[in-house]
Amino acid sequence: MRYISASTVAPVVGSLIRNGVVALDDTGTIIAIYEEGDPHLDGVEVEFYAGVLIPGFVNAHCHIELSHMLGKTKRNMGLPVFLSEVMTMREESQEVILDKIAEADHMMYENGIQAVGDHVNTDHSVQVKKKSKIIYHTFVEVMGLVKEEVQNRIDRARDIEFFFEPNASITPHAPYSCSKELFKTFRKVVGTDNILSIHNQESDEENKLFRYKSGGFLKFYEKMGMNADSFKAQARNSIQSYLPYTPVSNRLILVHNTFTSLKDIDFVQRQGRDVYYCLCPKANLYIEGKLPKILNFIPSNDRIVIGTDSLASNDTLNILEELKAIAAEVSQIDFLQLLKWATINGAKALGLDAQLGSIEVGKRPGLVLLEGMEDLHLVDSVTLRRLV
Ligand SMILES: [Zn+2]
Repeated sequence: MRYISASTVAPVVGSLIRNGVVALDDTGTIIAIYEEGDPHLDGVEVEFYAGVLIPGFVNAHCHIELSHMLGKTKRNMGLPVFLSEVMTMREESQEVILDKIAEADHMMYENGIQAVGDHVNTDHSVQVKKKSKIIYHTFVEVMGLVKEEVQNRIDRARDIEFFFEPNASITPHAPYSCSKELFKTFRKVVGTDNILSIHNQESDEENKLFRYKSGGFLKFYEKMGMNADSFKAQARNSIQSYLPYTPVSNRLILVHNTFTSLKDIDFVQRQGRDVYYCLCPKANLYIEGKLPKILNFIPSNDRIVIGTDSLASNDTLNILEELKAIAAEVSQIDFLQLLKWATINGAKALGLDAQLGSIEVGKRPGLVLLEGMEDLHLVDSVTLRRLV
């Protein structure tokens, strides 16, 4: 047994506990949570830390298999150029790819990340994930613009999914990489427990493609030799065009939402579906030089989750740094709210909330100490230390 105490315990579910004590067994499962001075603590050795004790983070969006691409793409080029750089430069020796995946897994663990929603196109990350102390949900991406290839693409994704089960599902990659036929076929073939995670409105070029069939994506298709015939001008933003083709009962994580308007959010809310909005602020700043209008999502507070995206569009995989980027931009969101986005909300989105995401008896959430917090304000100098 370990008894860990901190000046402030922030359990995420429930109130703050000053000098609270968390008792854990050898597996890291929480056995009990005590107030200061509880008689159960008489005679036991308590480890005390100055700082704020929180559960491990949930990184709701990553592509660990792109970890070898750190520093390879140029910043601020916009999404279509970024995508063509990733597609043309992702080749690397198997050895380097696997080494960098292992490094990224270790980096995330040390950065206090307990669970990850991770997108893949290959089985490269299988072995690292099997051995990892992190719990992964793997999303195998399906993409394709050619009608005749739809079934093949879905079958191939299912084959990759097999290696990552039980925590895995297949998902359309993005509205600009999937035809209407693909979305419609996908909807017919997946069960309701298949969680979806779709890159959404990461660039305004995506909205231009769906509204007017114009903009940077047409150049991208031409450059990559892809056929754009399946897109027709819809006079509405992408989300309003493709959402009706996705399976209505499945949980859906919409990732990025950098160019999602209030009208779009209203459209999604009116569907009454199980939708989460994932914010990846540092990747947005890296690729588009712009953040989503975060305050517009506040009415869906319980539905906001945080991701790092990959090392192709970020300099680190660190949820604390993502929260600092948000706090620096929108000071009116308090730390405890941000903490929910980065822990329990992500756990719920990935279906892992019975195991982690909060400091509660019976869970194994990992424990992270935040040092240098000023009255629960997330200033730039705050650092973290994984304790469990
Ligand atoms: Zn992504």
